[in-house]
Amino acid sequence: MLILVLNAGSSSLKFNLVDMEEEKTLAEGIAERIGISEGFIRWTIQGEKGRLELDMANHKKALAAIMEQLKHTVLGEDQDVDAVGHRVAHGGPNFGDSEVITPAVLKEIEELAFYAPLHNPASASGIRTAQELFPGVPQVAVFDTAFHHSMPEYAYTYGLPYELCQRLGLRRYGFHGTSHRYVAERTAALIGKPLEASKIITCHLGNGSSITAVHNGHSVDTSMGLTPLEGVVMGTRSGNLDPGVLTTLMEQEKLDGPALSALLNKKSGLLGISGVSSDCREVEEAMDKNKRAKLAHDVLCYGVLKYVGSYAAAMNGVDAICFTAGIGENSPGLRSWICDRLGFLGVAINEEINGTRSKADRFISTPDSKVAVVVVPTNEELMIAREAKRLTSNN
Ligand code: AMP
Repeated sequence: MLILVLNAGSSSLKFNLVDMEEEKTLAEGIAERIGISEGFIRWTIQGEKGRLELDMANHKKALAAIMEQLKHTVLGEDQDVDAVGHRVAHGGPNFGDSEVITPAVLKEIEELAFYAPLHNPASASGIRTAQELFPGVPQVAVFDTAFHHSMPEYAYTYGLPYELCQRLGLRRYGFHGTSHRYVAERTAALIGKPLEASKIITCHLGNGSSITAVHNGHSVDTSMGLTPLEGVVMGTRSGNLDPGVLTTLMEQEKLDGPALSALLNKKSGLLGISGVSSDCREVEEAMDKNKRAKLAHDVLCYGVLKYVGSYAAAMNGVDAICFTAGIGENSPGLRSWICDRLGFLGVAINEEINGTRSKADRFISTPDSKVAVVVVPTNEELMIAREAKRLTSNN
């Protein structure tokens, strides 16, 4: 069974072609600058890298060009994919699981643009495009929020007037759910415990970051909220703030909604604090000589530390802590900063193993650490392909 995984952004389209017999990625890549000039597509197909400069007016042109590459390489001329899995950012209050896309599902995804104005319209455009190019091929939506539907009401309720929250759907939804679910499953397998009887804290730390408490396989709390702005500081996003900061900015700086949104989403976080970069690697490189870069790094580490501590309390214990995504997988310094302060939980890591580069799932805790600490490269695309297979195959 061949599954095409698509992740449509407003001006980009990421793709992965997965052979589900061996869960092997046959091709992956991205079309960028869709609808803008100087577009290009880059890919790795069966280990071979390639690039095509191509102006693409819309997602349909981009997907057609991608399929052209796949047809001449991994797919036979008349061979079609068996299903398409779409990453969809926001599933709102109703989608607690992946869904085979019907007109009603697509309509609801479009209506959820209220919550994710940048992401959901792009996902919907990706879905329409794939429906046009692959008529009759089943399409599945996999929502970033779905895994967090298991949160108890007291974990997702904001301290605002109840009726107002009900009316506007204001609550914690959480994001990166596909990643948290994938790495929690891998972590349980690594520590040799059934997922259904485990307490795992997953730290997805990348350009966007979120931390999740996974109790017996279910998300019971997560750091992102109504939008992907809540939680720890991120590349350019502020993370948590006293809401009073917003009213102060509105009054003192005369910022309106769009200006506040731009400030909090694009100019804050690691970039805003350090003044150096939104890229954690560049912040870490500048840290020795630049105080603000060091401060930005420490604010991020401290934020993650506090979530880990509070989620250990939320689950009344923790069996394993998992680091994933660009920063979680690649920054030994950040992992030590956090783990060194978790001695009260019995966490102990092996610094030598922590400092060794690897792309494999691995323990970085010592054998006698009371809590396992693991690094698991995330694989959201494989998880989306699995979901598409689960919902479309008859066996
Ligand atoms: P992601 O959004 O998962 O692609 O993660 C991107 C983030 O990972 C960026 O902030 C990168 O700087 C960061 N990252 C990648 N490699 C490293 C590294 N070796 N050390 C620190 N951060 C890294």
